Amino acid sequence: MIVILLGPPGAGKGTQAERLAKTFGLVQLSTGDMLREEVRGGTDLGKEAKKIMDAGGLVSDAIIIGMISSRIDSLKGKGIILDGFPRTTAQAEALDKMLDDKGLKLDHVIQLKVDEDALVERLGGRFACAKCGAGYHDTFSPTKQDGVCDRCGSTEFSRRSDDNPQTVRSRLVAYREQTAPILPYYEKKGALKAIDGMGEMDEVFRRIRGIVES
Ligand code: ADP
Ligand code: ADP
Ligand code: ZN
Repeated sequence: MIVILLGPPGAGKGTQAERLAKTFGLVQLSTGDMLREEVRGGTDLGKEAKKIMDAGGLVSDAIIIGMISSRIDSLKGKGIILDGFPRTTAQAEALDKMLDDKGLKLDHVIQLKVDEDALVERLGGRFACAKCGAGYHDTFSPTKQDGVCDRCGSTEFSRRSDDNPQTVRSRLVAYREQTAPILPYYEKKGALKAIDGMGEMDEVFRRIRGIVES
């Protein structure tokens, strides 16, 4: 099974992708996570990408497409959730061709719809465990015990440098101008399923689950 989660920054793609991965035994492929890994590793690609990510822009299609293609090959047919990819029409077209060439089929394209005010609020309070990467939110999903990761017990946390108000504004513009245009692309193919991404995380997950199980 191959599922795409589409939506603006802060819509809950990562949160829901993790649940889908666990529930359905799929592998979560997040291009944002892959890029942050390159940044941490200090690779040439990472250095190039960091400038663009900090400015809230999009990394070049060629880099992203190459990265995803080799990752899909390494999974040898396992089910996949694409989180944060595709983000441009060129990426969507390249994905179609890639899947065709690899003899794979796209099952669901799920769009998470969330109000802009809620996006800003979600991104503003997002943090993660520095050790295991578990995701949290100051208000909506705090740790059970203050300052201690529920999953691994670590007391160190991090916030993404691009979750500051100014970069968030640029990321929302990039979404509107470069990513939203791919919605009609999938709509024309009859693959797009839009769901309400407002409300509790569990409730949103139930909506997504309904589509994946259909
Ligand atoms: P994305 O991957 O789309 O950028 P995330 O899954 O990282 O979004 O979610 C952004 C922030 O909002 C995180 O801090 C997460 O805990 C929180 N969040 C996710 N889904 C919801 C929800 N349904 N209600 C409230 N907060 C949410
Ligand atoms: P979010 O969904 O919260 O905006 P991501 O972790 O998906 O965050 O992406 C973080 C940044 O990484 C983006 O703002 C962009 O600069 C870059 N990026 C991630 N995925 C892509 C992609 N498919 N194409 C181009 N740039 C990407
Ligand atoms: Zn942890």
